[in-house]
Formats: sequence, structure tokens, C-alpha cells
Amino acid sequence: MSEINSILNKVNIVLVGTTHPGNIGAAARAIKNMGITNLNLVSPKEFPHEIAYYRAKAAKDVLDSAIVFSNLEEAIEGSSIVVGTSARNRKVPWPLKTPRESSHEVISLIKSSESKICIVFGREDRGLTNEELSLCSHHVSIPADPEYSSLNVSQAVQLMTYELRMTLLEHLEMNLTQEWDIPLAESQEITNLIDHFDQIMKEVEFYDQENPRQLLTRVKRFFRRSGIDHMESNIFRGLFSAIQKKLK
Ligand code: SAH
Repeated sequence: MSEINSILNKVNIVLVGTTHPGNIGAAARAIKNMGITNLNLVSPKEFPHEIAYYRAKAAKDVLDSAIVFSNLEEAIEGSSIVVGTSARNRKVPWPLKTPRESSHEVISLIKSSESKICIVFGREDRGLTNEELSLCSHHVSIPADPEYSSLNVSQAVQLMTYELRMTLLEHLEMNLTQEWDIPLAESQEITNLIDHFDQIMKEVEFYDQENPRQLLTRVKRFFRRSGIDHMESNIFRGLFSAIQKKLK
């Protein structure tokens, strides 16, 4: 495997709730063209399907090895960075990057560590839910014409993976590296940290549980975007446990 392919092997493309099998096939082809082969499917409407294979052309192997999950949390397990793509802004905004900015962040991370990353794409008709977007470290919007900004999902996949490949080629050529001493916290670790923080907030009666408003969404956004590493996460978990012990 070439250096480029072994780096791109840490990237997982996740398609959530895809309705048309043709789009799954077209996405498989799009990613294989860019040197990526890991495809995770969350509750696809129809898969496997002959139309998917027809549209995949020579990327049949990508479809054969695609893994089907029943929810996004399972599909992103083990990933340190989860990128959510969305054509429109949501109520509580997450850090929003262009495909190029996002690719720089992702490539610096996977080039210099064992971390895995996921790039998540939504349903053809309504994209990703707010809950799904809240599992992401940052969001990406392809700066299309605001009059009609919603691309076909497989074309969005093509653009995102093209930018990623271009960024990687640039990084390799210019020998850019960002070193970090500790592996980044994985998605599930951040979920556990957020849950633990929520427990503490409840135990000290920090918020009205009948009416939490956007508090928890903001807490999730804070931890998801932080780029927190494994050791930092353990420091917080240790502190939270110490607080709980004192409270008893
Ligand atoms: N009406 C939906 C559009 C879904 S398009 C919505 O408002 O979200 C299907 C998927 O393609 C999206 O979930 C996203 O993953 C991707 N996509 C389409 N256009 C995009 C854009 N301009 N920027 C980023 N992702 C886009």
C-alpha cells in the first residue's frame, strides 16, 4: 500500500439513511477514485442492491466491504474526529468550515497519529438530524450558490474526498506535520465525558431539568469541538469523580 493510501485508510465515509441505492454506488465510486475504501452505511433504505453495484462500476469491492450500522454512534465508534456535512445552518451553530479548512485539520491529525476519522453525510431529503450533527467535532458546508445549495449526496462526497486528497498531496510535498504527544479522545470517550459532566450538573442542581433549554447542546458543542486528548479527558473524568465522592 502506498503512503497516501495507508494514510487515507484512516478515513471512513459514513452515509446516513441513504434512500437511493444508486447514490450509495456513486459514492463508493467517488471515494475509490480518491483512494478511500472504508464505507459505513447507517440504516440505508435498500442495500445491497443491484443499482448500487451498477453505479459503483469498478468500486464493487468498496460496496462488498461496506459495513451497515443501525445508528450513527455505532458507525463512528473509535473515531477521534467526526466531520458532519450540511447544506444549511442549524439552530445552535457548530464550528463551520469549508471543505478545504476541514481537510487541513483532518490531514494534520491522521498524518501524524493513529487516529481514525469519519466524514458523515445525510439523507437525500433532509440531511442529518440535529442529534446526529451534535456528535460531530465540526461541520462543513460546501459553499454552493445560496439560491440552490443542496448537492446530490454522492457529489458532496466527491468534493469532500477530492479536497482531502489534494490537501494530503500538498502536506506530503511540503512536509507539513503537527505533532501531538497524546492520542485524541475518541468519540465514545467524549460522549462519556459529556454524560459525566451532565451528572455533576444534575447532582449540584445546576439547571432546571424540566426546562434545560439549549444548555446540554452547548455543553456537547464545547466538548466536541475542543480537540480534547485522551489524557485531558481523563483529568476531567477524575475531577468529576472526586467531586461526586465529596458530595456523598
Ligand atoms: N435538504 C437537505 C439536503 C440534503 S443533501 C438539508 O437541508 O440538509 C444530502 C447530503 O448531501 C447532506 O446531508 C450533506 O451530507 C450533503 N450535502 C449536500 N449539499 C451540501 C453542501 N452544500 N455542503 C455540505 N454538504 C452537502
